[in-house]
This record gives sequence, structure tokens and C-alpha cells, in this order.
Amino acid sequence: MQRITRRMLLLLVLMGLMLVGTLVFAWRYAVSSDEWVVFSGSPHVYSGGNLSLGIVTDRTGTVLLDSTNGRRYADDSELRKATMHLLGDRYGYISAPVLNDYADELIGFSKITGLHTLSDTTVQAKLSISASAQKTALAALAGRKGTIGVYNYETGEILCAVTSPTYDPDAMPDIEGDTTGTYGGVYLNRFFQTTYVPGSIFKIVTTAAALEELPDAQTKTFFCEGSCRIGADTINCNGTHYTQTLSQALANSCNVAFAQLAVELGADVMTKYANKLGITDSLQFDGITTAPGSFDLKDAAESQIAWSGIGQHTDLINAAQFMTLMGELAGGGDAAEPYIMKQVSNGYEAKRQTVSVPLQQKTCEILTEYLRNNVITMYGQWHFPDLYVCAKSGTAELGPDEIPHATFSGFIQDANYPLAFIVIVENGGSGSATCAPIAGQVLKACCTAMDAER
Ligand SMILES: [Zn+2]
Repeated sequence: MQRITRRMLLLLVLMGLMLVGTLVFAWRYAVSSDEWVVFSGSPHVYSGGNLSLGIVTDRTGTVLLDSTNGRRYADDSELRKATMHLLGDRYGYISAPVLNDYADELIGFSKITGLHTLSDTTVQAKLSISASAQKTALAALAGRKGTIGVYNYETGEILCAVTSPTYDPDAMPDIEGDTTGTYGGVYLNRFFQTTYVPGSIFKIVTTAAALEELPDAQTKTFFCEGSCRIGADTINCNGTHYTQTLSQALANSCNVAFAQLAVELGADVMTKYANKLGITDSLQFDGITTAPGSFDLKDAAESQIAWSGIGQHTDLINAAQFMTLMGELAGGGDAAEPYIMKQVSNGYEAKRQTVSVPLQQKTCEILTEYLRNNVITMYGQWHFPDLYVCAKSGTAELGPDEIPHATFSGFIQDANYPLAFIVIVENGGSGSATCAPIAGQVLKACCTAMDAER
């Protein structure tokens, strides 16, 4: 009798354990099954470290990658090069965080029915980029290293996100054996993963700080005689600008004026605005985390504060973040957060998320006027025929023997073409001379792509 009771107890314990085990499994299945099914070792889902399922197209339906039977990129080699950093290569040297982030949707995994794409329907993922804008941007870089980004600050769609150097995933060059430097940093997506010395496009940040912190900012004048002494340093200007207002100093990109302005604002205020404007933050969307920029005036000498206000010293920006900031300025402080995955055929649809810069709307309006004035008086409206472009150029000094990076960033103030952009050409020399024509071509390609959808 006692033996039977003992056996009963043992059985009950075993049944209890099984029940607990089943519940734990059910709970874990509910929570993480979508992760198990896309785990990176699964040969059903990955080849060479990159997700291989479904068809990926641009915003118009142009096929960029067809993985229904192997991994087939676009037919056009220039398009393959221009989009490879978003799609990943064949061997996993370049990963595709966007596709990995939507792995569940792309493989059509359902917790109830399992993998349904492995049967009949092929899932299609539509990216927000324009194939023609991608190709135009890569061609405009003409083999130089750098990055170009354009996005719709009303909807969030990234129309262009190009990084150079790149290569054709169907004809991979001998990168390890290359001694020319052509492929330096080729595995990086320079738009999302890299930071750059901004040069004078950073004067937008200093101007925003001045407009909010100095009551007389708009009427105050600055005097430039070609250089000035600050602390133990001489700050050289790109010209001799004599007496200028803040608006004129920004158009002249006067280093003397901005050095004096940064010193007047001081390290704390400059740091506060660099942080406020998101320079040191990362953006996170579609599985992408952008590289945070830098702005560091800890224990800085007066001359270092001066250089920081000009976009030199230790200042670094990320292109995607700075482009988003331009969208926020265009939108009076608010903009849509960028995204690149527009739609997945089995149900996913991108939604607008708002991002904000904590500046007064008035500050954004005055900055818009100033940036518009830059284009009209300095860069040349002819680069942007009918577009109301507002922008700032930069020539980012690197070292004594290096050609500076050319930078250019801004936005179009137009309800039909609400686009913010950034162009960075490494060792490209003068910011506006190198980048304004490129910006003109790429913006035109983006506007054409938008017109085709109306
Ligand atoms: Zn000057």
C-alpha cells in the first residue's frame, strides 16, 4: 500500500514537472519563436550571413534582390553597386541590418502556422529608396569616397542612402590584395556607420545657439580682417569680410565671426546646443543604429572652443543624423523619423514617427531664411533650378597634408518636395564647389521619382 502511494506521488511530481515544462515552452514559443526561426545559423533563411528570402524592390517596384531561388541582384551593375550596402553582399562581409530587422516578415513566419513563404506566395519587401536616385548619387560621387543621403522629412522615407566606395556583389574585386586604397573602409556603410569632421556645416549649430541665447543675435555685427587671435592660436578665415551681420557671416562662412561667437557663447552653451541638436546621439530605425557624433569641450582652451564653433576641434557628425536635423529645422522643429523599409507584402507598412529638435519655431524660421540666403548669395540657385533649397556648405580641414572633406547639407522648403539632404565627399576640397552640383543632381532625381508617383 505504502509503495503504491509512493508511486502515485512520484507520478504526480512527474506530471507536475511536465506541465511546468510545457507552460515554459509555450511561453518561450510565444515570446521568442520568431527569433528562433530567423537565427543566423538557419540554412533555410541565410546564405553567407545575409538573409535570403523574398524579393526586395525599390519604391517603384524595381527588383534589387530576388532570393526566391538563390541570391539574384539587380540586372544593372551600377544599381547593384549603388544598393549593395543596403542589401548585403553574398559572403556576409557587408551585412544588411534593414533586411535582418524584418526577417520575420520577410520569411513570412507565423506563430500559428509556421513558415508559410516556404510554400506558395513570395514575400515582397519594398524599400523607400529610389533606384534612379541611388544610381545618380553614386555616379555623381564619381569614384570618390563619401556618402549622400536624401529623405522626405514629412513622411520619413529615405529616397537616397549611398555610400562609396562600393563594389559589384556579382563581381567582387580583390579587396584584400588591393594596395591602391581604392577600397579603404569599403565594408562600412558611410551613411549610417561613420562619423565625419563636419567643417562649416556645423556653423548651423552655432547659429542656432546664438539665436536662442543672445538677445541681439540678429542685429549684432562681427568684424573680420582675415584672421584673429584667440588665446594662443590664430584663427584664419577664408577671406577678409570686414563688418557683417550673423546672416552675412553664415553666408561668408566667416571663421573669425564664428570663432568669436563660440567663445562668447562659451563651452557650456555650445555643448548644450550640440547635444540638443542631437549631434552626439544615435538614430535608431529599421534595425540600424547610427554612429553617434562627438562634441567635447571638457577642459577646453578658449581657442579650442573657437574651433569647435567652426566645426573643427574634436567635432564629429553622422550623416544620417545631420540629415534628420535638417528635416527638423525645415519642419519648424518637428520632422518624420527616417525609415528605409516601406512595406512588406504580408502586412507590414511603415508608419510615420515624429522626431523633434527642442528649438523654438522662430529659431528654425530664422535659420531657414539664413540658409536660403546662403544659396542665393553664395552657392548659386542655378544648381537647383526650381527648388527652394536652403543649405550650408563646409570644407572640413583634416591635417596639414590632406585635402579637406567637402560637406553640404540642407533642405528644400516646399510642400511638394519636402526633402532634407547631406552630401559628403571625402578629400573633395571646397564644400560648395564640389557638393552643390552633386546635391542639385541628386535632388532632381529624387523630385523626378516623387513626380512619377503623383
Ligand atoms: Zn571672415
